[in-house]
Amino acid sequence: MKAYTFCPLCGAGLDRSMIGGRERNFCPTCSWIHYINPLPVAIAYTVNRKDELLVVRRAHEPAFNEWSLPGGFIEAGEKPEEGCLRELMEETSLEGEIDSLIGIYQREVEPYGSILVLAYRVLVDNDAIAINHELFDAGFYPEHLMPEVRIPLHQTIIMDAGLCELVQ
Ligand SMILES: [Zn+2]
Repeated sequence: MKAYTFCPLCGAGLDRSMIGGRERNFCPTCSWIHYINPLPVAIAYTVNRKDELLVVRRAHEPAFNEWSLPGGFIEAGEKPEEGCLRELMEETSLEGEIDSLIGIYQREVEPYGSILVLAYRVLVDNDAIAINHELFDAGFYPEHLMPEVRIPLHQTIIMDAGLCELVQ
């Protein structure tokens, strides 16, 4: 992630110093400190009534053209569950219902930096898909026919979702 060179509040050049146990950029004029927090992301592990899993082929970076689980950034003021279902709806027009939280994950991803990922198991009744511009393809697949998902985090979520089901 690119760092600020100038203060976003007053425009002065930033300095760097040890603040609160970390090297941070700060403004010597107005004392603004650049605390860098992870971006929250919601991922929808989405299954239909036949227990098939929804995977989507991405039409944008990162992971261009890779099969993945749908998801995206949670907006300010939005509950994570709402963000999860909104992203699913935007990308595939599917109306989902949150079933359970699979897990919470932290990763470093170019170009965003640190992300905090909340992965939910989502159920859909009507599995008729209409993809938007963010995707090349999307479909529900039984495990043995599923395209290979190569994004390590998404592999982990799929594995964890399977383990959650065994426990239930
Ligand atoms: Zn400033």
